[in-house]
Amino acid sequence: MCDVCKAENLDSDFMNGARNKNNASKLYRVFKGQVAVVKTCPLHDIQLFMLGEQKFLLENLSFLKFLNQNRRSFISNSF
Ligand SMILES: [Zn+2]
Repeated sequence: MCDVCKAENLDSDFMNGARNKNNASKLYRVFKGQVAVVKTCPLHDIQLFMLGEQKFLLENLSFLKFLNQNRRSFISNSF
């Protein structure tokens, strides 16, 4: 399930319909010096692309809080 929908308590299936497929998106600014990898549904994928990372996080404050509370599970180990 989309991490943003989960944190924001949104019905991901309802909002995305049959096309609901999650992507991995990278956030570069949320954790200093580390990349966060989050699952995003098509809707939040587009929102992130349109708004940019900082505005996206401001639009989804519960998600930002969720990220900070669970930062270990989102930090990418590929660096
Ligand atoms: Zn979503």
